[in-house]
Amino acid sequence: MSRLRLIVTFGLVASVAFAARSADAQAPGQPASGRTILAIGAHAGDAELTSGLLLARQRMRGDRIVILHLTLGEGGNPRLLPEAYGAQKRREALAVGAALGAEVIIAPYRDGELPNDDAARRYVADVIRRVKPTYVVTHWRESLHKDHATAHALVRDAVLLASLPGIVTENPPHRGIRGVWYAENWEDADGFRPFVYVDVTGALERWRDAVRQYEFVGGSISSFRYLDYYTALATVRGAEARKTHAVAFDVESYAKRRIVDSLP
Ligand SMILES: [Zn+2]
Repeated sequence: MSRLRLIVTFGLVASVAFAARSADAQAPGQPASGRTILAIGAHAGDAELTSGLLLARQRMRGDRIVILHLTLGEGGNPRLLPEAYGAQKRREALAVGAALGAEVIIAPYRDGELPNDDAARRYVADVIRRVKPTYVVTHWRESLHKDHATAHALVRDAVLLASLPGIVTENPPHRGIRGVWYAENWEDADGFRPFVYVDVTGALERWRDAVRQYEFVGGSISSFRYLDYYTALATVRGAEARKTHAVAFDVESYAKRRIVDSLP
C-alpha cells in the first residue's frame, strides 16, 4: 500500500481514576513526539493483543501510550470466581501496561455487562478529554462478543461528545484527534477490511514479552493460540505492506477519502 494521507478530523474526549501508572510511563502532558495514543478495549487483554504491537512500537518512537480497559474480563476463567480472576486480571493488566510503557486506566464496568448507555458514553468522553489523545484505537463494529460491539459504539460516540462544548464533564472539550482506528481482532472479523498499515518492525519481542504476563495468553485458560495468531497476522500484514511486521486497522467508510490537489 502506498503512503496514506488520511483526511480525518475529529473533535474529542473525560471522569476516571488512573488505576495505575507504569514505572516508565511519561507523566501526563505533551510527549516529545507530540502524539498520544489511547487504546480502548472491552476486556483487559483485548487492546494489548490486537494493538499492542502498535503501542510498543510507537512508545519506542516517543509517543505517550494510554490503555483504557472498560472491564477486566473477569468472567473468562472457568476455574476462578469473577472476584478472584478480576483481581488477577487487574495485576496482569498493570504489569502488561508497565512492560509496554503505558498508563493504564480501568473502568468500573463488569464483564458481559458493559452498558450501552449515555452514562458510559460520558465516562469514555471524559477519559478522552483527560488523556487528550491524538489517536484513538478500539474495536471494530462487528463482533461475536457483545462487549466488543458495545465498546465500539461507546467510543465512536464518545469521540464526538468529548469535542462538544455543550457536553459538560469534569474536563474541558478536546478536539485534537487525528484518527480513530479499529483494530484487527479474530473476534471482530466480520466485515473488517484492513486500511491503515503501520510498520511495527522491531517491536515483536517487547510485545510478546509483555502480553505473556496475561495467564490466558499462555493457553491454560483459553485454547485460542493468541501469540501464534497475532504474531502470524503481523507477518501477513507486514508482507502486504512490504515490511517485516505490520499491524492493520480499519476506519469508518467516510474516512476512506483521499483528496489531492492534482494527480500525483
Ligand atoms: Zn474481549
